[in-house]
Amino acid sequence: MISPFTLHRPSTLEEALSLLQRYGEEAKVLAGGSELILLCKMGFLRPAHLIDIKGISGLDRIELDPETRRVRVGGLVTHRALELSAVVRERLPVLAALERQVANVRIRNVGTLAGNLCFAEPHADPGALLMACDARVKASSVRGDRSLSISDFFVDDYQNALEQDEILTEIEIPELKDNFTGTYLRFCPAERPTVGVALLMAWSNGVCEDARLALGCLGPKPIRAAEVEGNLRQRSSEQILANAWELGAKAALLCDPSPDLWGSVEYKRQIVKTLVSRAVEQLCKRDAAYE
Ligand SMILES: Cc1cc2nc3c(=O)[nH]c(=O)nc-3n(C[C@H](O)[C@H](O)[C@H](O)COP(=O)(O)OP(=O)(O)OC[C@H]3O[C@@H](n4cnc5c(N)ncnc54)[C@H](O)[C@@H]3O)c2cc1C
Repeated sequence: MISPFTLHRPSTLEEALSLLQRYGEEAKVLAGGSELILLCKMGFLRPAHLIDIKGISGLDRIELDPETRRVRVGGLVTHRALELSAVVRERLPVLAALERQVANVRIRNVGTLAGNLCFAEPHADPGALLMACDARVKASSVRGDRSLSISDFFVDDYQNALEQDEILTEIEIPELKDNFTGTYLRFCPAERPTVGVALLMAWSNGVCEDARLALGCLGPKPIRAAEVEGNLRQRSSEQILANAWELGAKAALLCDPSPDLWGSVEYKRQIVKTLVSRAVEQLCKRDAAYE
């Protein structure tokens, strides 16, 4: 049974931030509630105050900044809204495709991207892709706003870098130039993914100009596989395709998976190897198809 709490329903961000400051550790931010309410029901959390931010207008926007071409995702944007957004489908189709794989449509309709990041459950999808995109998040409090890289935002299992009085109000994703293609592959035999692989590659005349590879679900935070990225840059799609399996094997050795209910270290490394080589093959073949 849920222990008693006071529900606050602020209609402005300022009101929400001052409530959060006033109640400190006794308060929790409530967005879609898909994680928070479960934890309260199970008795793992007993907040005396829930601050429901769903009534704050403007936080549910997805916008393309006309100057910087960055995509700005408000702190209340749901997985489903990202999946269906025309801006995301046009500027970041790989994010729309990732969102389609998250949970089921019921959870995607209520669960927010910000809630997913704030919960910092290691077995989650969006973190790896946001890491590959060099995304940043905006943390707001009565003291002002600050911007954190997604890498600094994740701290440990179920721990993020927000201060007690901060709300994640925006996720900012830098522009990906038109010559980028991307894919997100995951292995998800149960409810949550075991491994997630995000790969972005920029092509120029059949040669890989830039590559970003991030591996998720293997530990407290997603990691970038910089050495593999280096092996992709300035190589033709034919050269890369010929080495796809070796690149997968290298990524598997670079990561340090935590053994858990989802599998042993060796099992997860094997999945990394398979998914990275598949992702590489997919993007090389896609590049060839464009030529
Ligand atoms: C059955 C099921 C299947 C799932 N499958 C997947 C999956 O396949 N892949 C995947 O990635 N995820 C999966 N999830 C996780 C899902 O993505 C998250 O539950 C959802 O995104 C959380 O968002 P929410 O708005 O419901 O967060 P809430 O439950 O409202 O909040 C979660 C936590 O974040 C805090 N919080 C929320 N928003 C903010 C904010 N803006 N600022 C500060 N703190 C905040 C809350 O205080 C709470 O601690 C699954 C969840 C369920 C229940």
